[in-house]
Amino acid sequence: MRSKIKKCRVCDLYTLKDICPACGESTSQTKPARFSPEDRYGKYRRALRQEVE
Ligand SMILES: [Zn+2]
Repeated sequence: MRSKIKKCRVCDLYTLKDICPACGESTSQTKPARFSPEDRYGKYRRALRQEVE
């Protein structure tokens, strides 16, 4: 399984869990600071990989 870093918007805390260990809020996945065409294709590539795996 691949680990994805998530972030609690309330605490500004980074975690790997779906729920913030500090306040119990749902965390959200971190996103690239700026959009780039490469990221766009990377997203599709990851989606395809998940189907294969
Ligand atoms: Zn929190």
